[in-house]
Amino acid sequence: MQRQRRIATEEAFATPEQLEALADRIAAGDDSADAPFWGMMAGSANPFAQRVKRQLLDLDDERLAIMDAEGVDMHVLALTSPGVQMFAPDRAAAMARDSNDRLAELVARHPRRFAGLATIAPQDPEAAALEVERAMGKLGLNGVMINSHTNDEYLDEEKYLPIFEAAAASGAPIYLHPRAPSRGMAGPYLKYGLETAMWGYGAETGLHAVRLIMSGVFDRFPGLRLVLGHMGEGLPFWQWRLDYMFASGSNRPKLELLPGEYMRRNMAITTSGMNWDKALAFCIEAVGIDNIMWAIDYPYQTTPEAVEFMDRAPLSDEDRTKIYAGNAERIFNIAPLADELEMERA
Ligand code: MN
Repeated sequence: MQRQRRIATEEAFATPEQLEALADRIAAGDDSADAPFWGMMAGSANPFAQRVKRQLLDLDDERLAIMDAEGVDMHVLALTSPGVQMFAPDRAAAMARDSNDRLAELVARHPRRFAGLATIAPQDPEAAALEVERAMGKLGLNGVMINSHTNDEYLDEEKYLPIFEAAAASGAPIYLHPRAPSRGMAGPYLKYGLETAMWGYGAETGLHAVRLIMSGVFDRFPGLRLVLGHMGEGLPFWQWRLDYMFASGSNRPKLELLPGEYMRRNMAITTSGMNWDKALAFCIEAVGIDNIMWAIDYPYQTTPEAVEFMDRAPLSDEDRTKIYAGNAERIFNIAPLADELEMERA
């Protein structure tokens, strides 16, 4: 039997400039809820921070060795959260273009090992829209990642519409990745460090996704695809109640479909950092086998755990192949292996 192709779809990297700029923000007294994490990362002594920074900056060496050791064919890479979204607009847009150029160059060097999601700076929506078009056109990348709020604003605000227009026109799936809650939301999360991946990231990003559904963006762009990590940031579990309360409430926006119907038509979820059979089984029922992709969340979570989870999940071979590779090939426009082999022979 042919070995299972494994495409990991939420894998992070960093550029030295990004890590420096994040450390600069912390040194300048940043008061966002992302500051505790990036303050820890900027500190020199913490062994977790040292390892993660090393693995974020590495692309060709340790990363490929770990992928080889665990039988991971491909990382779909994106600049680590919060991307360039904490920086001044001009600097952020320039850093995004530079990061996307380097990502495209890396993918060209290792076309079967890496695909890439572009970084954009929503701080300047018009420039961000142009960068979406450039990334999907000239650079040939596979989608866009946006790390939830930007300066405490959510993408359902009217001014961000050009980004969705560009994504819809160029067929770019938008991966809505977590960061810590916005300032308006963060207060109660800061005690016990709950602003982190333990709870706050999912609460922030789940809220953001529900706001996007409510904004009608999926009526405006019926072909738009939003990808959520971490088994859907809680949305699959809330689907029934979202639909029920949406339909029975009096102060709801007018939409063509129910929230759950947009989830199945316009969204996909990944297993990043949530290596749990029971959640997977539920999500297959809730959003459908064709809307779920495998992910590791490298280097924040470990590759062997994610591989072991998906290898052992109680699935048919056909369903496992969809989650490990087939759905990612379709959603992120990644050439199937059979096509690659054809291309090599030609
Ligand atoms: Mn991640």
